[in-house]
Amino acid sequence: MDNLAQALAKEHGGDKIHNFTIGNPRVPPPKAYKDALIKIANEDIPLCHGYSSTQGDLKPRETFATLFSEIQDVKIGAEDIVLTSGCAGAINVVLRTVLSPMDEVVIVAPYFLEYPFYIENFHATTVVLDTKFEENWQINPEALEKVVNPQTRAIIINSPHNPTGVVLTQKTVNDMCAVLKKKSEEYGRPIYIISDDVYCRVVGAGVKTHQIFKHYDYSVVAYSLSKDLSIPGERIGCIIVNPLLQGRELLVHSLAHANEIMGFVHANRVHMRIIPEVVPATSDIHLYDESRKLFCDLFDELGIQYVKPEGAFYVFPKIPDGIDEWAFCETMAKNFIILVPGSAFAKEGFFRLSFCKPPEDIRKALPVFRTAFAEALKLKK
Ligand code: PLP
Repeated sequence: MDNLAQALAKEHGGDKIHNFTIGNPRVPPPKAYKDALIKIANEDIPLCHGYSSTQGDLKPRETFATLFSEIQDVKIGAEDIVLTSGCAGAINVVLRTVLSPMDEVVIVAPYFLEYPFYIENFHATTVVLDTKFEENWQINPEALEKVVNPQTRAIIINSPHNPTGVVLTQKTVNDMCAVLKKKSEEYGRPIYIISDDVYCRVVGAGVKTHQIFKHYDYSVVAYSLSKDLSIPGERIGCIIVNPLLQGRELLVHSLAHANEIMGFVHANRVHMRIIPEVVPATSDIHLYDESRKLFCDLFDELGIQYVKPEGAFYVFPKIPDGIDEWAFCETMAKNFIILVPGSAFAKEGFFRLSFCKPPEDIRKALPVFRTAFAEALKLKK
């Protein structure tokens, strides 16, 4: 759909096309980020562009340790952290470390479309756990119990969630942990929770995200600065290993080794030096609150159903009954609103709209959306 957006922009002019496909944040990074880039470019330190260790420089790990000690409410040390090439790099490194061929990994539909490919990278099998619009896209513990078996090695959870924008409740996470603890004991080997928290700081005002470390020993968090600092192209993130996990040193060591042998070697060195200068600053996250509200108000006006998003910069509404998903998205595109069909996230009958733009851009799109939606409604059988 992004390619279609580019083609339409070429034909009709970029200003006319409202592209809501990709989660490539348009709210600029904070000033502190540019200042740090300039400062670091001017530093003249021997080997400052040379190799680091596979785990990454100490100072940025200390910065992330402080940040996540607060988020997780558990004391995390620099020794619990491995710096990675973004969150995608973090997830791949974890999977490389914990999986053997034929292991199973549970992912939760609708899901970030790249997870099955990551799992395939390591010759493991993807098992899809479905969630329901009617259950606010929360994980159902009974359904989870049915898909777990002795082959299950890991589950990937993601909150705030791409594509729905939903935040998992702490109860959902606790119920999930209870099932996985029981099953791990029954099968005599741990099932890892990989908590993809790439959007953990992109939340609406007052929204609290889940904590995992206190509730489940075999857990790791995958994170990056891609979304909350608006620097996805710079490829910097980390894995945080649960500091409460007994014997975690071997896991951290193995993760750092995987980082190296997968060809990443280690994370981006310039950004290792940027992190202590910038974090915990974020880009202007509250602008997404405004953009989110503009779309939710529009959907309420048009009678479009959706589960209220509380984080990330996505919303995942229902396509009105009697309208084919692709025909809907095509008609919207012909009328200059570019969306992603739900089947791209293994959930047909929905569309994902990414509003990672400042509110002034969204305001310009609202009347165009109204016209496009009126056209799409004519498809109704
Ligand atoms: N996980 C989710 C849920 C995402 O939406 C994305 C990117 O869109 C990633 C991981 C990858 O993040 P990064 O660009 O930091 O590798």
